[in-house]
Amino acid sequence: MRAAGVGNDRQIYDSLIIGGGIFGLYAAMLLAQKGQSVALLDRGEIWTEASAVNAGSLGVQNKLPALVPYALWSWEIWQGLLTQFGIDAHLRRAGGWKVAMTANEADRLRDVARQQAEAGARIEILTQAQIGDRAPWLSPDVAAASYSPQDGFASPTLMGPALAKAAANAGVQIFAHHPVSAIHPGPSPEVDTPHGRVRARRLGIATGAWTQITAAMLGVHLPVALDVNMVTVTEPAPFTMQGLVSHARGILTLKQALNGSCLIGGGWQGIGTLEDRRKDVDHDQVVHNIRLALRVVPGLAGLNALRSWAGYEGVTPDSLPYLGPLQGHDNIFVAACARGGFTLGPAMGQLLAEVMAGQAPSRPIEIFDPARFQHG
Ligand SMILES: Cc1cc2nc3c(=O)[nH]c(=O)nc-3n(C[C@H](O)[C@H](O)[C@H](O)COP(=O)(O)OP(=O)(O)OC[C@H]3O[C@@H](n4cnc5c(N)ncnc54)[C@H](O)[C@@H]3O)c2cc1C
Repeated sequence: MRAAGVGNDRQIYDSLIIGGGIFGLYAAMLLAQKGQSVALLDRGEIWTEASAVNAGSLGVQNKLPALVPYALWSWEIWQGLLTQFGIDAHLRRAGGWKVAMTANEADRLRDVARQQAEAGARIEILTQAQIGDRAPWLSPDVAAASYSPQDGFASPTLMGPALAKAAANAGVQIFAHHPVSAIHPGPSPEVDTPHGRVRARRLGIATGAWTQITAAMLGVHLPVALDVNMVTVTEPAPFTMQGLVSHARGILTLKQALNGSCLIGGGWQGIGTLEDRRKDVDHDQVVHNIRLALRVVPGLAGLNALRSWAGYEGVTPDSLPYLGPLQGHDNIFVAACARGGFTLGPAMGQLLAEVMAGQAPSRPIEIFDPARFQHG
């Protein structure tokens, strides 16, 4: 990865993206493919934050109903990545089981499934007998489950290098270790880095959990709350668990990677702040996460947990992403903070590329307008 030399001071890129996660890299790649000169800056190595450390779930059933059409569209894009761009992220559309352990959770499961189906998802509610027949590895304690053939997962570890390579091949100039410390708006916005100033005709902010801090560089308040999500990986399991398991209350994700290891997630909270760059595992919370996983899939018992880790996720007040121009800055755009942003990344990246290229977005973006919470 290039680490220094943002180009000569007079150069004006067509597009400049801040943030080398899935949103920024995917958008940068598409903009370069449109023939634009594109630079992408990251404060550290690219693909080291949420996009790198997430659990790899590509869920439709675990999305807010308003995001279901975008998750389905993003899946279409994911499915074309290998043939279109040579990106192999071990994509598996193996289906998904969403479970409820109590009567209350079962009511919620059915209610949300109905709303998601109205939004276009294919979901069936299973009887307990059907659960036993089709997913015998799920606990008999599972009170209710829904199934969607549209859920699956991919490897964040494989996606990062493959996407970065495709972006570089398309012509994106990637500058790692270029933290942006100031943004100067104008006809050609400029940003300051320790290695010099960078100018472009259009600026894209794809800084994930840091987006409130980045927007503040423009005197704009864009609220972003911080989650510190955790994931645990086990040693390879001798049994086979198919597809993605999620939970009616959104507190569990579970899948078995190709090597047999199981990944346990679900948004249990670790400890950390952006200011001190700490993101630590909270061991008590990991134990709760693992206990729940064992209640749902008893076959996990006896496996050793190899490692748990934590990562930052930015959350907006309504849990919908920010996507679109910043109010008052018609050449500065933001794409950040989608719940389930690994699933939604290609769709969000494509929408960012379209608006930065001055094209009509191929899906509606009004509900993501940053102006709904922007001050200043
Ligand atoms: C532990 C965990 C598990 C998750 N599991 C899932 C899952 O299973 N499925 C799913 O769909 N989603 C999941 N998510 C959410 C998903 O990972 C994120 O929504 C998505 O990766 C966000 O991508 P991004 O590009 O917006 O942000 P990021 O990947 O965080 O990238 C933002 C980049 O901006 C850079 N940056 C910030 N400030 C500056 C600056 N001033 N100058 C230069 N660069 C800067 C950062 O260094 C970073 O590289 C999970 C998240 C976490 C943390």
